[in-house]
Amino acid sequence: MTSYTELGLVNTKELFKKAVSGGYAIPAYNFNNMEQLQAIIQACVETKSPVVLQVSSGARKYANQNILKNMARGAVEYARELGYDIPIALHLDHGNSFELCKDCIESGFSSVMIDGSHLPYDENVELTRRVCEFAHSQKDYVTVEGELGVLAGVEDDVSSEHTHYTEPGEVIDFVSKTKVDSLAISIGTSHGRTKFKPEQCTRDANGVLIPPPLRFDILEEIEKKIPGFPIVLHGASSVPMEYVRMIEQFGGHLKDSVGIPEEQLRKAAKSAVCKINIDSDGRLAMTALIRKVLAEDPEEFDPRKILGPSRDELKKLYMHKNLNVLGSAGQA
Ligand SMILES: [Zn+2]
Repeated sequence: MTSYTELGLVNTKELFKKAVSGGYAIPAYNFNNMEQLQAIIQACVETKSPVVLQVSSGARKYANQNILKNMARGAVEYARELGYDIPIALHLDHGNSFELCKDCIESGFSSVMIDGSHLPYDENVELTRRVCEFAHSQKDYVTVEGELGVLAGVEDDVSSEHTHYTEPGEVIDFVSKTKVDSLAISIGTSHGRTKFKPEQCTRDANGVLIPPPLRFDILEEIEKKIPGFPIVLHGASSVPMEYVRMIEQFGGHLKDSVGIPEEQLRKAAKSAVCKINIDSDGRLAMTALIRKVLAEDPEEFDPRKILGPSRDELKKLYMHKNLNVLGSAGQA
C-alpha cells in the first residue's frame, strides 16, 4: 500500500480550481515508457506547467504497474533536479471497474477515472459513487473523474463507433449523487487519429479534411448547470498534418487522419474545461521521427539514436501545447 504523497505527487483538486478560475487547462499526457516520460517532464518543467501523467489499463499491461509507479516517483525527482518543482498528478485513464481503481489508488495514484459512460445511467451513477466513496475516504484524498456521454473512436481498451453527446439535463444529478471531482463530457471530440469519418468532414483546397466544429453550445449549457465545476475533454489531439505527412513520406500509411483544430481547444481551455487529454499527437510525433531516422540512416541500430530524436520532438510538441493551446505554461 503506497499513498501518492509518499511519491511526491498531488491530486487534481487544487490544479483544477486554479485552472478553472485562471482560464487555462492542465495537460494530461499518457506515458508507457521512459522516453515519453522524459519528454513530458522536460516540456512541463521548461514551460513551468502543472501536469497530469496518465496511465491507461493498456499501459499497465505494457509497462507493469510497479515500474510505472516508480517512474512517477522518478518523474517528481527528475523535475526537481531540472530545477523547478512542478505539481505532478498520476492519473488512471479510463478505469473500467471498481477493482482497477482501488488497485491503482492503493499503489500510489493520486487520481483515477472511472468510466461508466457505456453503462445505463443509474449503473454509471452507482459505480462512480462507489469509486468516489473509496477514493475520498483515503488518508490522502484521491480525486475521481467520471464521464457522461460517449466519445467515438478507439484508444487502448476503449472503443465506440458512435458519439453520444453529454445530456446537459443529467449533469447536476450525476455530480451531486456521485460526488465526482471532475466530469469528462462528450461534445464532439473523439479518440484516435481518425476522429471523424470523411463523410462527416469537408475538404480544403489541398484535399485536407476539415472536421465539424465542437459542440460549444452543449458545453455552455453544461457550464450553466454546474458553474465552475471542472470539465475534462478526452480525445483532444489535433493530429498535425506535418507528422502525418512525414510518416507517409517514410513509408507509413495513415489514411483519412483528422483531429480537433487547436483554436477550438484553446477556446475550450478558456472555459470550465480544465483538463485536456492528448495522446495521439504524441504517438504521431514519435512515429514520424522514428521512421525518419530509420529511413535516412539504414545503418543505425542503436536504440538511443533511434528514440532520442523522437523524444526531442515529443518535448517540442508538448511545449507548444502548454504554451499555445492549453495556456498552462507559467501556471506551476
Ligand atoms: Zn479518453
